[in-house]
Amino acid sequence: MKPELQSELFRRYPKLFRKPGKRLVDREVISVFDARLQDDNGPFDEHGIECGEGWFNLVDRLSGACESEIERLMAQGVPTEGWPRIAQIKEKMGGLRFYVNGPLSDDLRTQILKVENIESLHTCERCGSPGKLRDGRWQHTYCNTCDQTE
Ligand SMILES: [Zn+2]
Repeated sequence: MKPELQSELFRRYPKLFRKPGKRLVDREVISVFDARLQDDNGPFDEHGIECGEGWFNLVDRLSGACESEIERLMAQGVPTEGWPRIAQIKEKMGGLRFYVNGPLSDDLRTQILKVENIESLHTCERCGSPGKLRDGRWQHTYCNTCDQTE
């Protein structure tokens, strides 16, 4: 995804896309010791968002839902280390993968799975138009126009 579009998402959702990455190994632990914190530097920190522009709206919507989740956790007094954080956002087998470390509600997990397994497989990864999964040298989800100019 173009850097300027990634920057826009980072600006919209500063809590989700925060740095540095430290997370609770065990979120049930009440007392927080350094030994229970773990660096979560992952593929996202190395590579940013690894999918096409066409999925901007899908990533935007899921990121917004995660940001709201963090706001709920903040209201409950959960410290920064216990907030969800992006591990990796990428394309795999023609679909979006939106991997998050940390606690997520069942509702949010369901939303993510729906976008990964259904919506991204019907949205052109290049331009965002309605698309479908294409089997070729590798699997990608494109609209007819993008598939022909590939
Ligand atoms: Zn397209």
